[in-house]
Amino acid sequence: MSKLLLSGGRVVNSTGSSDLDVLVRDGRIEAVGRFDDVPLGDDVERVDVSGRLLFPGGVDVHTHLDSPMMGTTTSDDFASGTRAAACGGTTTLVDFAMQPPGTTLLKSLADHHAKAEDKAVIDYSFHMCVTDLYDGATDEFPEIVQSGVSSFKVFMAYRGSIMLHDGDMFEVLRKSAALGGQVCVHAENGDVIDRLAADLVAAGRTGPGSHEIARPPATEVEAVHRAIRIARMADSPLYFVHLSTEGAVEAVAEARSRDWAIAGETCTHYLTLDRSLYDAPGFDAAKVVLTPPLRTQEHRDALWRGLRAGTLGVVSSDHCPFCLEEKRRLGEHDFRAVPNGGPGVEHRFIVMYAEGVRQGRLSPEKFVDLVATAPARQFGLPGKGSITPGADADIVVLDPDGTTTISAATQNQNMDYTPYEGWTLPGAIDAVYARGDLVARNGRFVGAEGRGRFIARTTR
Ligand SMILES: [Zn+2]
Repeated sequence: MSKLLLSGGRVVNSTGSSDLDVLVRDGRIEAVGRFDDVPLGDDVERVDVSGRLLFPGGVDVHTHLDSPMMGTTTSDDFASGTRAAACGGTTTLVDFAMQPPGTTLLKSLADHHAKAEDKAVIDYSFHMCVTDLYDGATDEFPEIVQSGVSSFKVFMAYRGSIMLHDGDMFEVLRKSAALGGQVCVHAENGDVIDRLAADLVAAGRTGPGSHEIARPPATEVEAVHRAIRIARMADSPLYFVHLSTEGAVEAVAEARSRDWAIAGETCTHYLTLDRSLYDAPGFDAAKVVLTPPLRTQEHRDALWRGLRAGTLGVVSSDHCPFCLEEKRRLGEHDFRAVPNGGPGVEHRFIVMYAEGVRQGRLSPEKFVDLVATAPARQFGLPGKGSITPGADADIVVLDPDGTTTISAATQNQNMDYTPYEGWTLPGAIDAVYARGDLVARNGRFVGAEGRGRFIARTTR
C-alpha cells in the first residue's frame, strides 16, 4: 500500500480549477481536497507542490511507434517513444498498429502488441490500421474490437500502398459501426496529389519543398467532404485525424451542426508552424515533410478558432519520426520518397500549454480538455484524462514560472532534429506521475523500464 500526497498545488481539470491537495493510493487518485489537518498516517509520502499547476497526464491518441512506413521504420520504438512522451507530460498513448501489405489484421495487431510489451513505460492502446481489405478482413473486426482495439484507421491517400478506395472505406465504416467501433480517417485526395507530385517531378522540382505544393488545401477539404458523406451512407461515426485547413474545419462544423457524429483532431504543428519552412535551403525542408503539410497563418487562425468553438476536439502529436539522415537517404533525389512524418510526442504538452494558455488562446481548462480529457473520452479510456477520485493517478506537475527550451541535443525522442529547435517557452514540467509512479523529473525519465500496460478500450 503506497500513498502519496501532492499538497499545495492548483488542480486544473477540464471542468474547473481549484487549490487542492491530491491523495494517491496504489496508483489511483483516492481523494482531492484539503488534507492539512487530516491525519493520514505515517505511510504517506508528502510532496510539496505549492506554486505548481497539477494537470491530468496527457493523452496522445495519434502516434506511430516502431511502425513500418514508406520503406523504413519510425525511429522511436515503444521504449524510446513512450519515455519521450512521459518526459513531456504524456502518460497515455493510442498508437497506430499498421497493417503491412500481405499481412492479416490479426497478425498485424499481434505483432504490434509484441513490439510494445515489456518496452512501453506508460499505458497505451492501439487503433487498427486497415490498408488492405482482403477477403475476410472484416470477419476479424469483432475479435479486434473485443480485444480492446475499438477504432480503425483508413487512408484516403497513398494509392498503391496503404490507400483504400471509397468502397472499401465504406465497408470498414459500416462494419466498424455495427460493432460500436469508430473509424479514424486520413483525409486527403491521394489521386490528385499523386498527379500534382508527378507534374512537379517532371518539371525537375524534386526537392523536399515541393511536398507542400503537391498537397494544396483543397486536396484535404475535398476528402473531408467526401468522407463525411460516405460515413453518412454507412451510418457510422467518423473521426478526422490531423486536420490542417480552414475548409476542413468548416466542413466538420457544418456536419456537427446537423448533429452528425463527426469529430475532428488537429496537431501541435498545424497550430504553431508555418509553411515557410518549406522554403528552407538545401534538404532542410524535409524536416517538415509530413502529411498534410504545414499551412499559412490563415489556416492556423481557423484551427485555433475551431478548437475554441469545439469543432475540433482533440490535439494530437502525430508523432511519426524519421531522422533527417534517413529522409535524405530515401528521398534526396525525389521528394515523393521522403518518408512522411515528424517528431512531436515529447513537446505537444508544453507547446500547447505555452502557445495555447500562455498566449491567451485557450483557458487552462480548455487546454486540459484538448490534450487529455477529450481524447480519453473520445477513445474509451475512462480512467484517464482527469484528476478525480477513482481515476488513474496520472499527473503532470508544472511550474508556471519556469521555462522550457527545446533542442534536439537534449530531447528524449530518438531523433536528430526537432521542428521546435531553440524555442524557449514559458512553463516547465517539474515532475510526471503515471499511475502514482514518479516517471519523469525535469525532463529526464526516472521510472521503471517496461512499466506501461495495454489498456483495452471501450466501445461507443
Ligand atoms: Zn499519423
